[in-house]
Amino acid sequence: MLEIKYAILGAGLAGLSTAYHLGGDCMVFEKTDRVGGLAYSEETDDFILDYCVHVLYHNNPDIRELCDNLLNGNTKDHVRSTWIYSKDVFTQYPFQANLYGLPLDVVEECILAFIDAKYSEKKAGKNRNFAQWIENTFGAGIAKHFMFPFNEKLWTVHPKKMSTEWVESVVPQPEIEDIIDGALPGQKRLFGYNATFRYPQTGGIKVIPDTLSKRIAPIKFKHEAVKIDPVKKLVHLKNINETVHYDVLISTLPLKYMPEMITGVPDTVLSACDKLIHNSVECVNVAVDRPVDMNRHWIYYPEPEYIFYRVMLPHTMSESMVPEGKGAFSVEVSHGNDRKIDFPKIEEDVIRDLKKVHLMESDEEPKFIQRLSIPCAYSIYTNERVSSISKIKAYLTEHDIHSIGRYGNWEYSNMEKALNDGREIADYLKGDAG
Ligand SMILES: Cc1cc2nc3c(=O)[nH]c(=O)nc-3n(C[C@H](O)[C@H](O)[C@H](O)COP(=O)(O)OP(=O)(O)OC[C@H]3O[C@@H](n4cnc5c(N)ncnc54)[C@H](O)[C@@H]3O)c2cc1C
Repeated sequence: MLEIKYAILGAGLAGLSTAYHLGGDCMVFEKTDRVGGLAYSEETDDFILDYCVHVLYHNNPDIRELCDNLLNGNTKDHVRSTWIYSKDVFTQYPFQANLYGLPLDVVEECILAFIDAKYSEKKAGKNRNFAQWIENTFGAGIAKHFMFPFNEKLWTVHPKKMSTEWVESVVPQPEIEDIIDGALPGQKRLFGYNATFRYPQTGGIKVIPDTLSKRIAPIKFKHEAVKIDPVKKLVHLKNINETVHYDVLISTLPLKYMPEMITGVPDTVLSACDKLIHNSVECVNVAVDRPVDMNRHWIYYPEPEYIFYRVMLPHTMSESMVPEGKGAFSVEVSHGNDRKIDFPKIEEDVIRDLKKVHLMESDEEPKFIQRLSIPCAYSIYTNERVSSISKIKAYLTEHDIHSIGRYGNWEYSNMEKALNDGREIADYLKGDAG
């Protein structure tokens, strides 16, 4: 039997970063035959296409430095150019700070309702869910014309079913001056956590995990963890029918599902897992036989008549993503919970709607369509999320199992956070060992 001090499940950014920062005494077990998890780029016919938008933004100087080192100059800074297409016009993101260009009655409705919400006494203490937070923060106009339809499409549940602990850091909240300024023509202020970002010049986002993986011990690919004995500290790996003994297990697998593989896990933990919910995203990459003549990084589609909520234009990330004279669209469709889509028809519906929004010509045929599925895409923030996570994690930690990463923490977080999770757990374990 293989004896490992630190066994790491998953070779996404969190797992790779854990191994890198531990520096030894560890082994990464990955169910697929490649690294990167969601931070990956598929190469097809000289196109390099990611799992939807995957751009790098930094808040953490140590992880910025790590990425600088991994990219080794292969990076380009971008000022975000993101747009919203609704009412048949493009307006800049975020909707609430860029009303200019919308029909005048919509602009008026949004501004008046914003003022009413901002200065109304009614709202005090009433942010019990995301829907109320939206109405109290932006007013009924912005809620109706963007916030409700967009969020319902993305999250697959109505905002009234969601909690609010995540919103302050994610949803830009412009002041009244910004809303008025944004309703008038002229240069606008940029809002949001990813107003500037960077992206590899060549190779797609997978350059980061690829380079990181070369700095750690060889990874055990096609080693899918299927069973964990937390008392004997054994993990069973399916494809090779091997069992590994560990001292500490670091899991980057989804917190909702990982405990199912633990022998003797209490029912209270499993019922906490049942309370965690998520959506799924189908990334439909559509290649076309001509250049795409538009310099917008990505576009949001709030209206229900379009199947997708966002379309990214890969050539804007880096010219090397698409061969000369060709183009592509990276289309995101969410589903699950209350949002049912006609799954077998998804490609047909994506092409139909790319034509409806004038990104494709009415008689145009795609060069190829590539489907990348993300079954567990966004953890949905509900009132039961925090207490469920703490119940599950308390049980895991008691058994020397540390659950990290976007899905291991069951959170809305980015690549930088996944890299930092790996660094923090490694520091913690090394500190413990010392
Ligand atoms: C639609 C979408 C867009 C995003 N856009 C951005 C963005 O623009 N910028 C940004 O910074 N972040 C973005 N993110 C977030 C980013 O993808 C994640 O934060 C990050 O990649 C998570 O890394 P991870 O290692 O925690 O998880 P993962 O990438 O999910 O890695 C987990 C790994 O575990 C493996 N695994 C699963 N089950 C088993 C098993 N039983 N045994 C062994 N291995 C297993 C998987 O194959 C995978 O390799 C986006 C996410 C989504 C869904």
